[in-house]
Amino acid sequence: MFLEIKDLHVKYGNVEALHGINLHVNEGEIVSVLGANGAGKSTTLMSISGLVKASGGSIVFDGMELSKMPAHKIVAAGVAQVPEGRRVFGTLTVHENLKLGSFTNRDLAHIKQTEEWIYQLFPVLAQRRSQLAGTLSGGEQQMLAIGRALMAKPRILLLDEPSLGLAPILVKAIFKTLQEINQSGLTVVLVEQNARAALRLAHRGYVLEVGRVVLEDSAENLLANPDVQNAYLGGG
Ligand code: ATP
Repeated sequence: MFLEIKDLHVKYGNVEALHGINLHVNEGEIVSVLGANGAGKSTTLMSISGLVKASGGSIVFDGMELSKMPAHKIVAAGVAQVPEGRRVFGTLTVHENLKLGSFTNRDLAHIKQTEEWIYQLFPVLAQRRSQLAGTLSGGEQQMLAIGRALMAKPRILLLDEPSLGLAPILVKAIFKTLQEINQSGLTVVLVEQNARAALRLAHRGYVLEVGRVVLEDSAENLLANPDVQNAYLGGG
C-alpha cells in the first residue's frame, strides 16, 4: 500500500481531535476526504505532512514511518501539501514562490522543467510569472499554491480545500487540472467541503465525522449513497 494510516490519534492540548483514523491510498489514486467543519479533515492531512504530531497510531508512506519524522524530511520523502487558505508569499513574484517550493530539490534541470510544466498546466501563471503573488486573484493564488507544492517533486499531493471561496468556473478548471496532474502519475488526496465535485474527480472517498471515519467506499458508491446525498450533497 502506498499510504497507510492506522489507528491515528491526534490531540490538541488535552482534547483529542482524531480518535483512531484508518485510511489508505493506493498509488495513482485520487482519494477524497469529506466531512463537516471540525470533522478532522485538516488534522488528518497535517498529520501526514508532519505539521501536527500523532499521539498514537502509524502513518506509513512507501515503507517509511512518517509519524515521527520532521516535516521537512516528509517533504523530501515525496509528500507535499497545499495548505488551506493557499498561503502564498504575497510580496514575492510567481516565479519566486515557485522557486521556494523546490527547496528540497537540488536538480536544477528538473526545477526548470517542472516550472515549465506548471506554466503549461496553468497558463495564466506563465503570463504573470513576474507579478507579485499578492496581486493575483484567489483562483490564481490557488493555482500558484498547487504549483509551489509540485515544485517539491512530490509522489503524493495533499490538498486542503482547494475550492474554498472560488467561483464555480474556477473550481471546475482547477479540478480538471488536478485530474491532469493525477494522470501524469501523481497520487492525490483531496480534502473538500465541495463533496460533489470532489467525488466526481476521485476514485475513492472517506467520510469523517467528529474525528472518526464513518464511511469508506468508491466515489461512485458514495455519490449514490442516500446518507451521503442528504448530509453532503444537498439531498442528491
Ligand atoms: P474545517 O473544514 O473547519 O477545517 P476539518 O474537518 O478540517 O474542519 P479540523 O480543522 O481538522 O477539522 O479540526 C478537528 C477538530 O480539532 C475540531 O474540533 C477543531 O476545533 C480542533 N482543532 C483544530 N485545530 C486546532 C488547534 N490548532 N487547536 C485546538 N483545536 C484544534
